[in-house]
Amino acid sequence: MRIYVDIDKCTGCEVCVASCPFGAIEMQEGKAVINEACTFCSACVEVCPVGAIIKEEAEEAILPSRVDISQYQGVWIFAEQRRGKLQKVTFELIGEGRRLADLLSQELSAVLVGHKVDELAEELLYYKVDKVYYVDDPALAVFQDDPYSESLAYLARKYKPAIILTGATNIGRSFIPQVAIKLQTGLTADCTGFDIDETGKHLLQTRPAFGGNIFATIATYYHRPQMATVRPKVMRPMPRQQTKRGEIIKESFPAQERLPCRTIFVESVDDLESTVNLAEADIIVSGGRGLGDPSYFAQIRQLAEVLGGAVGASRAAVDAGWIPYSHQVGQTGRTVCPKLYIAVGISGAVQHLVGMQSSDVIVAINKDPNAPIFKVATYGIVGDLHEIVPAMIRRFSQR
Ligand SMILES: Cc1cc2nc3c(=O)[nH]c(=O)nc-3n(C[C@H](O)[C@H](O)[C@H](O)COP(=O)(O)OP(=O)(O)OC[C@H]3O[C@@H](n4cnc5c(N)ncnc54)[C@H](O)[C@@H]3O)c2cc1C
Repeated sequence: MRIYVDIDKCTGCEVCVASCPFGAIEMQEGKAVINEACTFCSACVEVCPVGAIIKEEAEEAILPSRVDISQYQGVWIFAEQRRGKLQKVTFELIGEGRRLADLLSQELSAVLVGHKVDELAEELLYYKVDKVYYVDDPALAVFQDDPYSESLAYLARKYKPAIILTGATNIGRSFIPQVAIKLQTGLTADCTGFDIDETGKHLLQTRPAFGGNIFATIATYYHRPQMATVRPKVMRPMPRQQTKRGEIIKESFPAQERLPCRTIFVESVDDLESTVNLAEADIIVSGGRGLGDPSYFAQIRQLAEVLGGAVGASRAAVDAGWIPYSHQVGQTGRTVCPKLYIAVGISGAVQHLVGMQSSDVIVAINKDPNAPIFKVATYGIVGDLHEIVPAMIRRFSQR
């Protein structure tokens, strides 16, 4: 889309300048000029008395043509594994995928990519999937966006699933938009609920918007597959069954499907991986500006360690350079939903709350009894964190 001024028609009346709520129109040599502050709101188009401001809708030109949706069948979930271990989100996706597949009376398949992970393909058969599509290739040994997205897009083109669900994890969020682009379809990020519409054909994808204040339901009527990432810890995981069922379909990753990989894997930093996997953590201890000094994050880490949890942080702590951004919880950081969230020296600004308020149990430690964090806390401890945190570490260590 673009909005531009036809200079031959512009009379320099300046009506558009006054109409623009964003100050995006300037006069240059007696003619209106639209600058980069323009948000395409079209207020100027409507007021121009001589029709000199033109809005050009370009979407049709870039949208892919509609597909025959009847050719697409089945629900796929992306079985995320790291270092040969299936991640919890995989079982949550299977739980939800099974429900949707049953509603549609179609098959549920898990898609696994990796190297030397044959056992995982077998393991998936214990979780009520009908099929496991599996690509084993050295190029998929460690996660990299390009080979992951190329292999999944290849499988999707070949088998035409109606739905593909992926975890809204670091891995899922990173590569799945590339898959959607390759397949020329839409992608709804961070969904917390699904349903099938009344026609029985389309997936209704619900996700929170505007910091959780509204829920948007999105449908993909004309393109396939219908793709979504799913927030971890929202869906009920499928329990492991006593017996296996379903079949494994082993696929290759054909040379013609591969493009040169644009990243080089250097090394995986264990320490970072274990501490920052916030999305999957059952317990998170987060520190904020109230710590007063970066050195006190050592205590936050210690408390997280004795509880077997991960370390989070407020943006104020991250902005101060006390801890890397990968730990940030909130609107511009991670959305988390652990069983226990302990907020230490965090005031509870709305931008922090939207990232953690759906935690099962929230414990807030703050010296200000009026801190907003107490409004969402299950248990509030009013006091000095420098006394309370060491006491908690001592007590939990004993237990
Ligand atoms: C567009 C936008 C996006 C944002 N995104 C995020 C986001 O993703 N995540 C996020 O966290 N913030 C985000 N913010 C920032 C947010 O508005 C707050 O500024 C930030 O969360 C405050 O961090 P804090 O609670 O650590 O610090 P403060 O608000 O300064 O709170 C510190 C708290 O510590 C308490 N305290 C101080 N000393 C002690 C003590 N000795 N013992 C006990 N308690 C003590 C104080 O009473 C206070 O309540 C965003 C802001 C904007 C505008």
